[in-house]
Amino acid sequence: MAKVKVVQCWDDGEINDIRLVELLRKYNAKATFNLCPGLMKENERIPDGWVAKGQCGGHYGYISGKLSLKDIPEIYDGFELASHCWLHENVNNVSTADFVKSAVDARNFLEDTVQRSCTGFAWPYGAYTAEACAGLREAGFSYGRTTVNVEYATQCDDTMALHSNCHFLNRNFYDLYNNAKACGVFYFWGHSYEMFDYDKLWEQFEMKLQFISEDPDAEWANVVDIVPLCKK
Ligand SMILES: [Zn+2]
Repeated sequence: MAKVKVVQCWDDGEINDIRLVELLRKYNAKATFNLCPGLMKENERIPDGWVAKGQCGGHYGYISGKLSLKDIPEIYDGFELASHCWLHENVNNVSTADFVKSAVDARNFLEDTVQRSCTGFAWPYGAYTAEACAGLREAGFSYGRTTVNVEYATQCDDTMALHSNCHFLNRNFYDLYNNAKACGVFYFWGHSYEMFDYDKLWEQFEMKLQFISEDPDAEWANVVDIVPLCKK
């Protein structure tokens, strides 16, 4: 029996991606990072951290940091990059033409930066429309990831609205993983800031990486690799 292809993607270019890529490299796990270049500063990282009320405008609690544009080639070396729009635009708040342009601008920037093709796309806020799906397909994107959870990721009508099995913190992660083996693909996603600086959450995620890496029935793959397996 063919091995189940396990794919994962991570959004927004968070500073915790530094810790995440270290873990992924330890297990030779493939991953795709969905980036918004317009939200990243040229040379300077935006640090993450905990802020008290009044320290940071109206926000208090954990603030996720951002990597800089200069970080991209080194931090993400060996991983796939995909467009997540230039400024994380919500497709419902801008014209389809502007939305597609933003998606393409991010892709062009990433391709220039890493000199590789970056044809993947993840919908900011998980919002998507049929019109924008058509626009992205016409612009040459190979898929667009939503935040919808499905039992079998390969059973999708339109790869521009490609659904995943679950978020990485889903409490039924292992059951969903075992169940997804029937279709040959397991796909999860998340944001590295969701593990904050809590070692227990990082350890819990490492257990998942280790479990999958040690499973003789599984192999890591990139999201672009599962597109041809999707039923139209
Ligand atoms: Zn996002």
